[in-house]
Amino acid sequence: MTGQSYPDSYYAATRNPDPGYPALTGQIEADVCICGGGFTGVATALSLAERGYSVVVLEQNRIGWGASGRNGGQVIGGFSGEELMAKRLGQAARDLIWDIGWLGNTVIAERVEKYAIDCDFKYGYMDVALKPRHMRAFEDHYAELSRRGFADAIRMVAAEDMRSVIGSDAYIGGLINQRSGHLHPLNLCLGEARAAAGLGVRLFEGSQVLSIEHGAQAVVTTPGGRVKAATVVLAGNAYQQIETRQLSGQVFPAGSFIIATEPLSEALAREINPLDMAFCDPNYVLDYFRLSADRRLLFGGRCNYSGRVPASIRRSIEPRMHKVFPQLRNTRIDYEWGGNIGIVVNRVPVIGRLRDNVYYSLGYSGHGVNMTHAAGEIVAEAIGGTMEKLDLFERVGHWRIPLGQALSGQLVALGMLYYRLRDKL
Ligand SMILES: Cc1cc2nc3c(=O)[nH]c(=O)nc-3n(C[C@H](O)[C@H](O)[C@H](O)COP(=O)(O)OP(=O)(O)OC[C@H]3O[C@@H](n4cnc5c(N)ncnc54)[C@H](O)[C@@H]3O)c2cc1C
Repeated sequence: MTGQSYPDSYYAATRNPDPGYPALTGQIEADVCICGGGFTGVATALSLAERGYSVVVLEQNRIGWGASGRNGGQVIGGFSGEELMAKRLGQAARDLIWDIGWLGNTVIAERVEKYAIDCDFKYGYMDVALKPRHMRAFEDHYAELSRRGFADAIRMVAAEDMRSVIGSDAYIGGLINQRSGHLHPLNLCLGEARAAAGLGVRLFEGSQVLSIEHGAQAVVTTPGGRVKAATVVLAGNAYQQIETRQLSGQVFPAGSFIIATEPLSEALAREINPLDMAFCDPNYVLDYFRLSADRRLLFGGRCNYSGRVPASIRRSIEPRMHKVFPQLRNTRIDYEWGGNIGIVVNRVPVIGRLRDNVYYSLGYSGHGVNMTHAAGEIVAEAIGGTMEKLDLFERVGHWRIPLGQALSGQLVALGMLYYRLRDKL
């Protein structure tokens, strides 16, 4: 899986021109060597470079080749497993956990502006309800958001008003939040890489990390070279195959898939999504969708743990899109693609240290656009000696399924079946 180009997605077809980065050759040195060039790797590199560290990023394929360049582009505050984490760590940690959940949105908005990153970033997001219990959960969330100073950005929408915010009868209400939004994720990742390079970060593509020799100065080896670094960050998420002994059994790859329609007419785009928001339903196996800047509907969903791409992504997703938007029955599908998310059993992101100078951040359970950016800050702070936020994630504790990746995949599939059954209730 190395040296690959981008998969054939809408994002790859519309990515901004980028310089490309060479493969590593020879031996170089840095303060920090980051293994993986998705949002986690690139955002962490930028957070570190802004603090004055010398940084190397090693990516086995292209920058943003993994989930970061393929996702739904929904920038949604909070993170998966947040509630469980708050319950486990108690009232004293609750405010900090909340702040971490919204940190990524702030980092993204600031970077888009500061580095002039052209990635179609837009505010506007809505949680949509399929069942009364979803509405009750949104009302609780609305109350908490209000208490925490979001009142000017949020709005509950009742069933009878839904047609003013979405051209669909599939939902019984929802919660709009104008501090979340959407963007072109590959262009964000490439823009952040360009910004990082501008601050002196050395990025390498086609440079798979094969091994890490640990020590006060770690030595990270790729097929063509070596990086000697005081600190290493593992940022390979669901594609990571290194340091498996310590991290295996905690994060599992699961496929998620998206289709993109042809560009819709202005009238049809306005009919289905008049406020140009991103949408998600609250199911574990959820539907998510939004319009691209050129008015395509990007509709995602489905999940599998087999590691196999469905015979036809389009045939598996299109019926779900038609259920939500019957008016798109005659609309052409131009792109279909998928990628791997890193699922964690208790859903809390896996952020911590393998040893004093080796950090990792992965497993965002499909909610990583914002959280990878928070993680970049958390890891950069920790490398600088401020451990408060990283400690929270180390303290929460993760289940490890110890029987190897094959069996674990089947167990995760069983867990998924359980959640699918719950979605039906
Ligand atoms: C289809 C899909 C839709 C999604 N939609 C959303 C959404 O709308 N909103 C949201 O918040 N989240 C979404 N997510 C999740 C989100 O994309 C991820 O949580 C996030 O991108 C993870 O970023 P990452 O950098 O940790 O991992 P990745 O982007 O997967 O990057 C990991 C990188 O590490 C590299 N790598 C791995 N091993 C090595 C090695 N040994 N040497 C060198 N490089 C290595 C890989 O090649 C890869 O490029 C979605 C994910 C998918 C797949």
